Amino acid sequence: MEKKNIDWANLGFGYVQTDYRFVSNFKDGAWDDGILTEDANVVINECAGVLQYAQTVFEGMKAYTTQDGRIVTFRPDLNAERMAQSAARLEMPVFPQDKFIEAVIKVVKANEAYVPPYGSGATLYVRPYMFGSNPVIGVKPADEYQFRILTTPVGPYFKGGVKPLTIRVCDFDRAAPNGTGHIKAGLNYAMSLHAIVDAHKQGYDENMYLDAATRTYVEETGGANFLFVTRDGKVVTPKSNSILPSITRRSLIQVAQEYLGLEAEEREIPLEEVKDMAECGLCGTAAVISPVGKIVDHGKEICLPSGMTEMGPITKKLYETLTGIQMGSIKAPEGWVVEVK
Ligand SMILES: *Cc1c(COP(=O)(O)O)cnc(C)c1O
Repeated sequence: MEKKNIDWANLGFGYVQTDYRFVSNFKDGAWDDGILTEDANVVINECAGVLQYAQTVFEGMKAYTTQDGRIVTFRPDLNAERMAQSAARLEMPVFPQDKFIEAVIKVVKANEAYVPPYGSGATLYVRPYMFGSNPVIGVKPADEYQFRILTTPVGPYFKGGVKPLTIRVCDFDRAAPNGTGHIKAGLNYAMSLHAIVDAHKQGYDENMYLDAATRTYVEETGGANFLFVTRDGKVVTPKSNSILPSITRRSLIQVAQEYLGLEAEEREIPLEEVKDMAECGLCGTAAVISPVGKIVDHGKEICLPSGMTEMGPITKKLYETLTGIQMGSIKAPEGWVVEVK
């Protein structure tokens, strides 16, 4: 298979159109078999449910080339499961979880020429998504849906080395208790755009959202979960039913316990406790872990002891172990690495 002529190491995180995408339609109460198509455009009615009432959910995952030349994905079963939960919360039909995994494999295989080579630092980003496609004007769930998977090659996240982030405690709320913070829905992102644009204007990389009810506990950022390391070397991550259950974060907790022999737990983390932490990172598929160097709470600076030039030592070990598992240089727990080819 001839790879596309792409400067992999200098790719950013932007849309690059690939050759094939998977499309399946839900109509009259059932999903069709789905096809791979070369047509990158979606044609829907002007009154489609997604356009009027934002009935859409999505997933994000990556395909990698391993050290020994295989193409793999990481825990796609958890993406399938999470998408089912997201769909159910928005009254959308569930795309069968086994079919989801099959479709991911099919579309990655079809776009093999766009899967970046091992060592380039780049990966093929895989974006499954689903939306209400028939006309809806009275407020109710759509009757017809489209499930699609697009792929796009993305560059190395830490181009030119790791640079710890400066984040601010945000005055906007991300998710209400008993709301939709725990599902991967476009609506959670639409309402975060103003907060992130404003954060960037003020010179911050990201927003730290607090729990909306009491504004005393750490929740997450717009698109990544927090992971902290305490001064006695314990890995802790916020527990809340209004944060998105990150697959990266759940995997890192297991890596901490089973590979690094660390204590790790999910528990409520008061903002008040953050000043006593040794390390902080943001977890998600895009970067695995981005280190946080500084957190600013309305003028009060919390400088993490790991500093502004490198990852904290435990964050680094977690990062190296998980990326080693993903790239095939470290033995993965059963079922984590799913071979495409
Ligand atoms: C997707 C997402 C994450 C990260 O989840 P991963 O499964 O690790 O990629 C974290 N927070 C939010 C709000 C997200 O949408």
